[in-house]
Amino acid sequence: MADRRAVRRVGLAAAAGLAAAVGVAIAGRRARPGGSVPTEIAPGVFCIGPSGWTQTNVYLVQAGTTWMLVDAGWAGDTDRIAAAVGQVVGSDTMPGAIVLTHVHPDHAGAARALAGRWRCPVLVHPAELPIARGEFDAMVRFAGPLDRRMILPLMRAIGSERREAAIARSRLIGVVRPLDLDGTIPGLDGWAWIATPGHTPGHISLVRTADRVVLTGDALVTLRVNAVSGFLLGRQGLSGPPWYTTWDGPAARASIRAIAALRPAVIGGGHGRPLVGLGVDDAVAAFAEGLDQPAGGHPRT
Ligand SMILES: [Zn+2]
Repeated sequence: MADRRAVRRVGLAAAAGLAAAVGVAIAGRRARPGGSVPTEIAPGVFCIGPSGWTQTNVYLVQAGTTWMLVDAGWAGDTDRIAAAVGQVVGSDTMPGAIVLTHVHPDHAGAARALAGRWRCPVLVHPAELPIARGEFDAMVRFAGPLDRRMILPLMRAIGSERREAAIARSRLIGVVRPLDLDGTIPGLDGWAWIATPGHTPGHISLVRTADRVVLTGDALVTLRVNAVSGFLLGRQGLSGPPWYTTWDGPAARASIRAIAALRPAVIGGGHGRPLVGLGVDDAVAAFAEGLDQPAGGHPRT
């Protein structure tokens, strides 16, 4: 019962507002230093974060003699991430790949620079490729509410030349590769990816089935991103993806149910402190159940 109470406390998200979204966008650019000491949340799984106002996480995952980075923070995070990685694996080893749960600027920002530094590929779900290549029409097709109301009008207003220049800086052309649809992650034994679309069309979560460690990106986060207080006060708690940057709300809710069905023992989300310990599976299940209740769970995602 204590779990249920805790879940209700963390699971009831307040109504979100565009003001929060704008605040997040601004705060993300001025991310505070911190979250640079890697924490081992499960054997061989390190969380680098949460970092900055957006409490963004990057994960380092070891398997056998190889390791991979899962997500890559904001564009300004390159040196911070590389230094944190060095604390775990030393500065001379290169990862097999950087795997992105989705291609948004708070998770793919440093991917290009780190892939160049480490000479490794960046792996994404095939459905994320158009965004990874910086195709503007894909950005229009896959836009969330914030994109539609603010970002796209701004990008149209600045004209195609400046828009192309802005997009070019984050393009992953040359380093990005599609993951195989069979769910495997080449070289990362014991791990698989599952499709958790909704926040973006090709959003994935990474799963280590042996001990039910699930890295959920923004499909399920542990920071109350849909409450104004979540970002401003750093309030922790299970939450669906931020609705204002989410492409398809019903799909996002289905993905949360799919994650709950895995009975995760550890949740490493894209924002907020990872959930570790007894009762994580029940907490996620109760949160997923709450999504179906009009008065509970979550207003949108
Ligand atoms: Zn995010």
